[in-house]
Amino acid sequence: MSEDCQSSDSDSQLGSAHLETQAVRAGKRTTHEREHSDAIMLSSSFMFDSAEDASGLFQQGEPGNMYSRFNNPTVRAFEDRLAALEGGERAIATASGMSAITLLMLTVLESGDHVVAAKTMFGSTLTLLSKVLSKFGITYTVVDIDCLDAWEKAIQPNTRLLFLESPTNPCISIGDIRGLSALAHQHNALLAVDNCFCTPALQRPLALGADVVTHSATKFLDGQGRAIGGAIVGSQALIGEQAYTLQRTLGFTMGAFEAWIFQKGLETLPIRMAKHCENAQALAEWLSAQPAVNYVNYLGLTSHPQHELAKTQQSGFGGVLSFEVNGGREAAWQVIDAVEMISRTANLGDTRTTITHPATTTHGRLTDEQRAAAGISEGLIRVSVGLEHVDDIQQDLQKGLSI
Ligand SMILES: *Cc1c(COP(=O)(O)O)cnc(C)c1O
Repeated sequence: MSEDCQSSDSDSQLGSAHLETQAVRAGKRTTHEREHSDAIMLSSSFMFDSAEDASGLFQQGEPGNMYSRFNNPTVRAFEDRLAALEGGERAIATASGMSAITLLMLTVLESGDHVVAAKTMFGSTLTLLSKVLSKFGITYTVVDIDCLDAWEKAIQPNTRLLFLESPTNPCISIGDIRGLSALAHQHNALLAVDNCFCTPALQRPLALGADVVTHSATKFLDGQGRAIGGAIVGSQALIGEQAYTLQRTLGFTMGAFEAWIFQKGLETLPIRMAKHCENAQALAEWLSAQPAVNYVNYLGLTSHPQHELAKTQQSGFGGVLSFEVNGGREAAWQVIDAVEMISRTANLGDTRTTITHPATTTHGRLTDEQRAAAGISEGLIRVSVGLEHVDDIQQDLQKGLSI
């Protein structure tokens, strides 16, 4: 990057600034045009001043701007902002959440290594372990997320990685991140947390002892349902060196346009997450009082068995909840079919409230036993609570509940 054209304005002064400030200012770059918003650098390659300059860049571990599979200023701006929010030294943006998780696994695992993961995980993450990494001699064991003993018992001499999503989808359970970090490090393994549901606005796993954070930026980081993307965040040695070396070869690269969307998404992340939490809390309390509802899974309810643990590692309870209606699949489908405003779509973390029936959609490919073990009953409904007025969300859900 030639210093007179591109500068990273403000990071040096940001230091210990608050999250809200980092969200709008960290990673901000300004070109010689002095634009106040962020430019999108849609360029596959960048020019060299001389043959010697080109040769120098090609020899660097992490070069300046050269070719957008290696480095792109807009992508780097998003990475720097996300790293600041997560409190990590370095982030690498990827084309999707799944490519972020794949990049992490390929970075830290070798043939013969073993992973311990929480039983409830994103379907494609499980497929990555069971169908893809298994081809290369990487094995795994799944355990109940909330049972620290089970994690410990599952650790083998060749265990290199402990992996969990916290909270989980769709039953909203959490892992004890501090406890798991201590356990991982005792056994010379790394702890990775998929921070998709909380985002750094509500939970900063690195500060709790995790080594790596993974993201599907597709969800709350964009928060507006526009683009697919992901990222991993951690130390310079692990992310900036080891993962970066792989990334430039594998080419799981995020495009500049997507990076710009996510960078702008981060600017409103703290205020959006606060509102998602406020609406979800009100909706969870209202649902709990409905006669047709058997139970509600939401960490903000004192009835949630992990409410106290959540308070020690999250600063908010999140925007996603699930609840079971009385009457199984038929009753659940009735609620889903009756909504007129809420979107019937599988995405989550959008400004708009979305509703799904996990047992027959996102978790439809699990066996009955796997679903039962994960707590996904036929009557369970997942709601990603959006930014509409909560009274309107309630009114829409009421339609199918009151029949
Ligand atoms: C969506 C999601 C992913 C995968 O992200 P993509 O962007 O769809 O590839 C991974 N983990 C969790 C928890 C998710 O919700």
